[in-house]
Amino acid sequence: MKWKKQITNLKAYQPGRSIEDVRKEYGLEKIVKLASNENPFGSSNRAKEWIQSYGSSYAIYPDGYITDLRSALSESLNVEEKQLIFGNGSDELILIISRAMLEPGKNTVMATPTFPQYRHNATVEGAEIREVPLVDGAHDLNAMLAVIDEQTAVVWLCSPNNPTGIHISNNDLVQFLNKVPEDVLVVLDEAYYEYVTADDYYNAVEIVEKYPNVLVLRTFSKIYGLASFRVGYGFGAEEVVRALEPVREPFNINTLGKGAAIAALSDQAFVEKCRIENKKGLEQFYQFCQNENIFYYPSEGNFILIDFKCNSDELTQYLMEKGYIVRSGNALGFPGAVRVTVGSQEQNEGVIQAMKSFVAEKAIRQ
Ligand SMILES: *Cc1c(COP(=O)(O)O)cnc(C)c1O
Repeated sequence: MKWKKQITNLKAYQPGRSIEDVRKEYGLEKIVKLASNENPFGSSNRAKEWIQSYGSSYAIYPDGYITDLRSALSESLNVEEKQLIFGNGSDELILIISRAMLEPGKNTVMATPTFPQYRHNATVEGAEIREVPLVDGAHDLNAMLAVIDEQTAVVWLCSPNNPTGIHISNNDLVQFLNKVPEDVLVVLDEAYYEYVTADDYYNAVEIVEKYPNVLVLRTFSKIYGLASFRVGYGFGAEEVVRALEPVREPFNINTLGKGAAIAALSDQAFVEKCRIENKKGLEQFYQFCQNENIFYYPSEGNFILIDFKCNSDELTQYLMEKGYIVRSGNALGFPGAVRVTVGSQEQNEGVIQAMKSFVAEKAIRQ
């Protein structure tokens, strides 16, 4: 058959292992999944209550304009409704942007390692991919500027960056945007925005006002704890959103996801609580790394990349046998490291104990 030639060697997404799967294989009772940056505290009770009270027909198509979530976000962000676009997770927005802008003969610029979906979707569209290595876990914005040319359609920035957790400062971002040509779309993926506490973080709404070539992506999957519902959104200049809209599927936000998102958005106390708990959790990991003298990247997200400088797969396997699912650095472009989602205090303590015994056992063997 006549497949696009660029997809013939492309691998399908490899999901992290599920709790059920690991439970079966190792016969463990308690398993803690700290592999996909999901919220250990679940989601707001308001979302659950809304779902339980939903009594309307399942036979009716969802609202294609996503009217009430659109107006709720427009109000809370202070952007116009027409500045918003929705995706079946921000993953789908990455697909929509790629489909709308990328093709053979064009190129796209991104950091490496970063969130793999930028590269994946660019590959499907047959665009040239220009990857610029991170420096100390951070985007090298000057090097990224240097590879932008006439054929560059999209630049992807991930802030905080997955998997390092490093954010882009306001100063660095503004200096970068001042130099990017106006006809290049800069996508600012802020999947972990609500976790950020750094003082020098930018204000994305102000950035979008000043730079009409920026589109910001956010999601209800991370701090809002609604990953299973697949609700992501973007905001930017009306012209950008208008141009992308025809590429969006008509009913890409489902009724239950939309309702749960509205309910979750109204509960900012829950978001605040999760942000505070996450900071405390990060401190637990920092303390461990400092005590053991292990390198880590200070994180603005709900995950931490720890560089044990060991065989990542061996450590991942070791932790799995003790009931903790984490992400091996080998799968993330950081051989030697693992990425651990920050869990509850007890979960963090547990995985830290397991990592401690790994370190001790390895020292014995050495
Ligand atoms: C998790 C994640 C996403 C995808 O989130 P969904 O909205 O669930 O599709 C996007 N970008 C980054 C950097 C992420 O870590």
